[in-house]
Amino acid sequence: MKQFLKYVLGALLATLIFSTLISLAFGWIWGIASLALFMAAAAARDSWQLLTLNRWLTRHQASAGYQPGGIWSQVFGRLHGLEKHAEQTQQKLRDALERFQHAGAALPNGVIVIDRSDRILWCNPSAERHFGIALKQDRGQSLTYLIRHADFADYLQSQPSPSSFILRRRVRGTDLSLSLEVVPLSEDERMLVTHDITQMERDEQVRRDFVANVSHELRTPLTVVGGYIETLLDGDSLDVPTHQRVLSTMRSQTQRMQNLVEELLSLSRLESQHAPAPDLPVPVAPLMQQLFQMARHLSEGQHDIECLCDSTDSILGSESELLSAFSNLVTNAVRYTPPGGKIILQWRRERGDGVFAVQDSGIGIAAEHLPRLTERFYRVDRARSRETGGTGLGLAIVKQVAMHHDSKLEIASEPGKGSTFAFRVPSGRIGPGHPAHATEKENPHLSES
Ligand code: ADP
Repeated sequence: MKQFLKYVLGALLATLIFSTLISLAFGWIWGIASLALFMAAAAARDSWQLLTLNRWLTRHQASAGYQPGGIWSQVFGRLHGLEKHAEQTQQKLRDALERFQHAGAALPNGVIVIDRSDRILWCNPSAERHFGIALKQDRGQSLTYLIRHADFADYLQSQPSPSSFILRRRVRGTDLSLSLEVVPLSEDERMLVTHDITQMERDEQVRRDFVANVSHELRTPLTVVGGYIETLLDGDSLDVPTHQRVLSTMRSQTQRMQNLVEELLSLSRLESQHAPAPDLPVPVAPLMQQLFQMARHLSEGQHDIECLCDSTDSILGSESELLSAFSNLVTNAVRYTPPGGKIILQWRRERGDGVFAVQDSGIGIAAEHLPRLTERFYRVDRARSRETGGTGLGLAIVKQVAMHHDSKLEIASEPGKGSTFAFRVPSGRIGPGHPAHATEKENPHLSES
């Protein structure tokens, strides 16, 4: 109302006063003529401004520097304000959409939005990976057409959808297990959330196998010991040699269980260490000497054993772990080399790396077993390993120690010819020479038959 008074009545009043003055001065005809002239000028100005406004609205442009007067300034000003506000709102929406797309792309979970006919409306990159699809090409395609799986189609159709569904399939050459969940978005749209549980299932399988293996390993010695205890408790008089044999079997079975428990504990300790091994210098020469003595003791003179080490190097690491890993390799060489065979322990430098190698002329290992040797409880010949007191954990321990020392275990073997197990230590973990052990140089090649 205020604006009406200001702009319309104000202008009308001014025109009337002006025309009255003209009438009084020049006569009523001039007064009416001037009034008509003012009205025509006002109508022309309003028409021009309406045209300008129309042009701006249709082509979204006003002439540069155009300054309409009166109420039109306010109209244009308001429209400019509205336009600016709309632009800001659009920018905010664009930013929000970009943020949403970034978040969607970063999500480890897959998200697919589908309509009531299961057609894909949108999905994030994880969902593309999980289902082996590409949004660009597959937008609008039916998901159940792309993923031909009867149970999956049933799951999508069931109303209300069960809480979750496990889909196992091969995508681009890889086996995937996906846990799916449908979330209703609206009458027409649903969101399918996928979670890759492949690794979780594998870990669970490894855990189950591990428990089954430990139980299996303990069951046999426990049954033997339990059976003999029953025999002893029955009180039947056993002759002295049988009594001795029973006790000695009980002792060896108890020893086997003890070895198994000790190796399990040592493996679990190694697996729970996340920090790298300490970098305390462990001189190689005395370590090799100790391993050489151990090999001779285990072999009981049945093998030709040689130790080649003329180095003053040290390995930067944990002495107890390195000794445990290297002695596992030496024990295996003695265990899997028939009497009369040859075993060589060696420390050498290769392109800056230090290599501890145990070479034997033993039974060897077929190529298909090599990749699995460091798995817990994996044995090529279960009976032979047991007979010789093996637990199936030795190489798993060696692998853990190697990882802990940024090192690698390399295995080369040929059935019937022998094997070489090499523990490769990177140059960063080789310490400076120790003159104190230079005496080893005088007698670098030790051998024993
Ligand atoms: P085990 O306690 O049975 O020796 P390991 O983990 O030390 O367990 O070794 C796993 C398997 O690898 C052994 O059971 C054996 O079949 C094979 N193996 C290890 N070292 C040798 C070797 N030097 N020669 C032949 N086979 C070997």
